[in-house]
This record gives sequence, C-alpha cells and structure tokens, in this order.
Amino acid sequence: MDEIVRLCKHRGFIFPSAEIYGGFRSTYDYGPLGVLMLRNVKNAWWRSMVQLRQDVVGLDAAILSGPRIWEASGHLTNFTDPLVDCRNCKERWRADHLEPDPKDGAIHCPNCGSTDLTEARAFNLMFKTHAGPVEDEGSVAYLRPETAQGHFVNFLNVLQTSRKKPPFGIAQIGKSFRNEITPGNFVFRTREFEQMELEYFVPPQEATKWFEYWCEERLNWYVDLGIPRDQLRLRAHDQEELSHYSAGTSDVEYMFPWGWGELEGIANRTDFDLKAHAAHSGERLEFYDQATSERYVPYVIEPAAGATRTMMAFLLAAYDEDEIGGEKRTVLRLHPRIAPYQVAILPLSRKDTLIPTAQEVLGLLQPIAMCDYDETQSIGKRYRRQDEIGTPLAVTIDFDSLEDRAVTIRERDTTEQVRVPIDKLVEEVTGRLAL
Ligand code: ATP
Repeated sequence: MDEIVRLCKHRGFIFPSAEIYGGFRSTYDYGPLGVLMLRNVKNAWWRSMVQLRQDVVGLDAAILSGPRIWEASGHLTNFTDPLVDCRNCKERWRADHLEPDPKDGAIHCPNCGSTDLTEARAFNLMFKTHAGPVEDEGSVAYLRPETAQGHFVNFLNVLQTSRKKPPFGIAQIGKSFRNEITPGNFVFRTREFEQMELEYFVPPQEATKWFEYWCEERLNWYVDLGIPRDQLRLRAHDQEELSHYSAGTSDVEYMFPWGWGELEGIANRTDFDLKAHAAHSGERLEFYDQATSERYVPYVIEPAAGATRTMMAFLLAAYDEDEIGGEKRTVLRLHPRIAPYQVAILPLSRKDTLIPTAQEVLGLLQPIAMCDYDETQSIGKRYRRQDEIGTPLAVTIDFDSLEDRAVTIRERDTTEQVRVPIDKLVEEVTGRLAL
C-alpha cells in the first residue's frame, strides 16, 4: 500500500489535493498519468456497458438538485451512517466500523483506546448548499450522493427518446459527494469520488434472473481487465445490511491490503425508486407494453461501481517487483486498456539524425494509442520508468532504423524484443495491444 501511494505521488498518478497548503481533508487530485488511467477505467466500463450492448443508453445528469428528489428517494431520512463520539479524545467514528475487543468484548476508541463512547446517532452524509444568492430554506440544494437518482427522474425522457423497452438500461458516470465520517485508505474512501452506475429496468418477474446475470457479468469485468479471480469475491448482504430500497444486494469485493473491501454493489432496487418519484412528482413513471396492452412499473437492477476506488484496485493488483538481468525492477502489469500510456516511443539517443524517424513513428502511433515520447536518459532507465508506470510496449528507434526502416518493440511483461519494419508497425502494435 505504501509503495502504491509513493508511486502515485512520485510518478504523477495521484497527488494530495491543495498540497502546498498542507492538503485538504482526504481530497486528491489526479495528475498527468492518473487522469489518463482514470479515464481508461471509465472508458472500459462504458465500452462494456454501453458500446458493446444494444440495450443500454447513456446519461449525464446534473450534480446539483433541490430537496424534492432526495425526499422522494428516501436519502434525506435514510442516507445516514451511525456516528459515535469518543468523549475522551473527541474523535468521531462510524459505529458499524468498530469491532469489539476480543479480550474484553468492549468497544474501544481506535485513536485513544477509551471505552467512553457516546450512543450512535444517525448522521446524514449529503452535502448541503444553497443555490442562488439567498441562503434560506427555499434555496437549499444538495450535491448528489450517488449518480443514481438522475436515471430515475429521467426515466420517461429516456424511454420516449430512445425507444427502448424493458429489459433496458441507463448508464451514467460522474462525481458523487458524501460527507464521510471517516474517509481514508488513500482513495478508497473520499468525500468526493467518481461512480459508474447502471440502472437496468426489467419486467418485475424477471428481476431475480437479471440480478444474477449482472452479478456474474460485473465480476467478470474485473477479471477480464486483469484482477486475479482469487483476489475477488461476490458477497451477499444479510438482511440487516440491506439499504432501504433493496430486496437483495451482492458486493463485488477485492482483497485490499487491509482485507476485503467493496468495489461495486449490485442491488435489486425493486420498483422502489420509480414508485417513490411517481408519488412525489405526480408523473406516471411506468412502461406501457403495446404488444400486451399491459402497464407496469419496472423493477431495477443496479450495478453501482466506484471509478476512483476501482482504479486503486487495478493499481494494487498490477503492482509487481521482479529481477531483470540481476537488477530489481518495479513493474505495473496493467491491462493495455487501463494503462495510462499504451506505447512509449524511445529514440536510442538524442542525436538529431534519429529524431525525424522517431517523430514519424510517433505520428503513426498517436492516432491509435496514447503514446509517451521520451528522449532523455539512458535507454535502460527509460525502460524502467515505463515499466513502473505500466506502459505495455516500448518502441525504440536506433541508428540501424535509418538504414533498414525497422524499429524494436519491447514488451513490458517479458522484456522480449522484436524487430519490426516501420511499414508494419501500426498492424503489429494493434495486434499486440489487442485493445
Ligand atoms: P461503503 O459501504 O464502502 O460506504 P456503499 O455501500 O455506501 O460503500 P454504494 O452506495 O453501493 O457504496 O456505492 C457504490 C460504489 O461507489 C461503491 O462500491 C464504491 O466503489 C463507490 N464509493 C462509495 N462511496 C465511496 C467513497 N466515499 N469513496 C470512494 N468510492 C466510493
């Protein structure tokens, strides 16, 4: 974990936010490599959930909204965590994260060890603000704590414009905000984070079938992108753990360095949300099936994943150290679709004679992949740097390239090198990346 945090800072993936002012309360900024990788995580999700399907369309709803949405959804009353205060050191904790001490069975403050804790009280996690210049009750607005309600309040708009019918889904990626009591573990739990959520509307009698389908489908997504199967599990929530809207939830969990942690929750939200918004808005949020002349409120299966948390899991799973020719190296074995750069273009020396060919190669590969161009330091050091940031392929241009119009491709994982004619390079790189 420390190695990942160090690497993220040192190579430009993730920086503590407002660092020159001493940081700001567990917020983080995504640097040049982080922004590429996070975008790749989101693109991989979008590709699998929207691009490769015919039954899902996209949405990008507003982050700010008035209280009515959150009244209807139940978040104003139910979106709370149990908060306890330590009377001794004044730290605050989430009661459901505190375990009784195996020795005396008492709950101790994780900071000072005291058992003098208050009773738990419900703490609402939504960030409240005011829209407009007057700060009164009428101007109260919330930052969304999940992207999900946008899908439900746009149900009719999407249904009418996309001409889909159940089973069909609405996919959305974007920022969500929760005033977490105890943020931490780097970007695992932050107050501002990104989610990738699908709301999949189905005929009620098919809900169980689709719930199982999405559990399987979503677990496989992580495996296909390189997280070893044995570091993942699906865990069903027991009855007390279920959210107020859910008839069944399973989490995809990853084995983080501190233990199992949720990457994604897959929930059967039933017709809770559509019915609640129908009751509060007065709109009929239903589907009318012309074939059967039947009118019904669909059930919703929701796979809800975190983009920032998932990026962290990809980094942890990819991190490796090995030895090449007796020398230790750090390597991120990231899937090519997730790695910040897919190809590094490395002219062997900075001599003027090599640069035009190196630039020609860059021009050939930039349209098909994200490329890093680097002509500083020794070639060995540049390979190590690319290994450390997870670049799957390096293309080296040397003095022979000027004679034979060929370049060397080096693979990150095997360090194997092959000579390839420049004319065949695009084909060769495309094949090797298998994007
Ligand atoms: P937790 O129990 O960890 O608080 P949750 O069950 O409340 O999470 P969901 O509401 O199911 O989380 O949100 C879906 C996904 O959004 C989570 O699986 C996680 O990947 C991501 N997520 C939720 N809260 C945070 C957060 N504070 N920081 C980063 N990612 C988050």
